Amino acid sequence: MKRFFISLLVIGSKSFSQHEIPLCKTTEDIAFNERSSFQRTILVARSSASSNFQVSYYRCIWDIDPAVRVVKGNITSHFTTNTTTNTISYDLSDQLTVDSVYYHDSKTSFSRPGTDLLQINFPVSINAGQKDSVTVFYQGIPPYSGFGTFNQTTHNGVPVIWTLSEPYGAKDWWPCRNGLDDKADSIDMIISCPDAYRASSNGMLVNETDNGTIRTAFYKHRYPIASYLVAFGVTNYKVLNHSVQLGNINLPMITYCYPESETSFQLNTPKVLQALSLYHQYFGAYPFINEKYGHTQFSWGGGMEHQTNSFIITPEENLMAHELAHQWFGDKVTCGSWQDIWLNEGFATYLSYFYFEKIDPAGHLNRLKNLSNSTTSAPDGSVWVNDTANINRIFSGRLSYNKGAYVLHMLRWVLGDTLFFRGIRQYLSDPKLAYGFARTDDLKRNLEQVSGKDFSEFFKDWFTGQGYPAYTVKWTQNNNSWARITISQVTSHASVSFFEMPLALNFKNATQEKTVVVNSSTNNEIFWENIGFKADTVIIDPEYWVLSRNNISVKENAITTMVNDIKLYPIPATTGITIRIRNPSGNDFQLRVYNTAGQLLSTKQVTTSGRDEEIQFNFSQLPRGVYLLRLEAGDFHLTRRIVLK
Ligand SMILES: [Zn+2]
Repeated sequence: MKRFFISLLVIGSKSFSQHEIPLCKTTEDIAFNERSSFQRTILVARSSASSNFQVSYYRCIWDIDPAVRVVKGNITSHFTTNTTTNTISYDLSDQLTVDSVYYHDSKTSFSRPGTDLLQINFPVSINAGQKDSVTVFYQGIPPYSGFGTFNQTTHNGVPVIWTLSEPYGAKDWWPCRNGLDDKADSIDMIISCPDAYRASSNGMLVNETDNGTIRTAFYKHRYPIASYLVAFGVTNYKVLNHSVQLGNINLPMITYCYPESETSFQLNTPKVLQALSLYHQYFGAYPFINEKYGHTQFSWGGGMEHQTNSFIITPEENLMAHELAHQWFGDKVTCGSWQDIWLNEGFATYLSYFYFEKIDPAGHLNRLKNLSNSTTSAPDGSVWVNDTANINRIFSGRLSYNKGAYVLHMLRWVLGDTLFFRGIRQYLSDPKLAYGFARTDDLKRNLEQVSGKDFSEFFKDWFTGQGYPAYTVKWTQNNNSWARITISQVTSHASVSFFEMPLALNFKNATQEKTVVVNSSTNNEIFWENIGFKADTVIIDPEYWVLSRNNISVKENAITTMVNDIKLYPIPATTGITIRIRNPSGNDFQLRVYNTAGQLLSTKQVTTSGRDEEIQFNFSQLPRGVYLLRLEAGDFHLTRRIVLK
């Protein structure tokens, strides 16, 4: 579903020149524009196509003159009916005129009932399960709305037309099934234009001819594709050819840019090649590896991840990394509901961070810190979209993009890199999801399968729950440099009572540091960790793995109490006794056994860690009776009576 444009504040139908467009680089900007764009189309009805057929293939033939905002062409679709029928209907804007419909080389009748609907009537009934085909000849001026689905403007004085269909805009300019209930298995596009121009589209350019006045491009795409991801652009494009080696395959990376932008695209394309290699390595093979990846320049502010061919306004690094990521998360696997928009946008946002983590490790922590700060700038809000009628909520940059990205970062923290990336790769290649649609539970199921962990609580807290924890870490150390750590948290929103998470703590002084990780699972839980030196500072979550805010680290007074608890069992003892001692001071001590006459019978030296100690004493050599157990350390002593039966 959806949209994925990144970018700017371009409003209405006014034409604009490059210098007027502020390129936005932050996620908030991305979300703002996706929202603006969505508001434009939310009023457009979704699919009204009949549900009695599925399309497996489209052949689209278009005549386009970028100087004239008109679409003219014919669309042949191969389809299979679900029921025996003599009629099917496609989505198509009422502003477009259907000239004729051909079925088995003969004209057949059609009607335009309802709104934005093309009903085709066959001369005979088509049996359920039968494969068949039909061709629609049509033309007209597509409905225009702002930067709309079928856009015409100029760049540097030269006309350009590009499409940007968004969730439900494809029917504005071609007859198709407009919904997200299925993807056609493949598509061909044959686009003719005056030969001063050339067309860019999805898939592979298998043929381009020029008869002296008209240039015709034949594009072939052999992967499942949703109709909103079908697109073309036509202008005096300059074509740049690059490639990237992905395993055994040398993938073409083809750029169609405005001639005036050639230098910039030439300069920046290597960055997206680097991102391609990286994503291919970590997230599984580039989803359309038998074809190409490409960029097509358009004048809409931002980017849109058209399949195999992202449309972008400028080759800005974050924009390129984000749109490329959508080829895996959005195009190959598309979120199956608005509630799960983070499966597109959270992933695309996180992959862009991942890209920068690899190419600019020095800036990584600062970027995460900023991401955390923006995500926790309000105390509430879930990644799960609780109100799909609320456009601002669906495209919330803070929640669907940033918090979604942070949830992925935390899954990586909990799982470790190996299992995290394996789990994500399995999700992308899951036969139920690949080249189709997914819900959040599908991601959870795959992560659980690779790890054996139960992520129910995690998703309850971080996906459907709202807010984040504020940690208080109280710590002190004993003479042996063991640290006693007490961790508590308050949550920013009542929907989550406690966020169970592993938490990293960095102990440091002027010359040494050590990071320990504790599993914080209840409030005021006490942990003992051997630090190995005396620290003066503890930094909570130094690498920003856990979304949190307002954390406090408190150094408590040094532990001086020698022993604050001692337990003996069993009582009475028979052959031996177990002594459990809590000795937070960390001082070594002796255990001595005396008889009631005061004679020393046995001594045991105990080297303590400072944690709870369990010491076994064997009394089998001693006669039954009463003894005194004395614990001694310097001038400290403690005596307990033992009855041996
Ligand atoms: Zn996006």
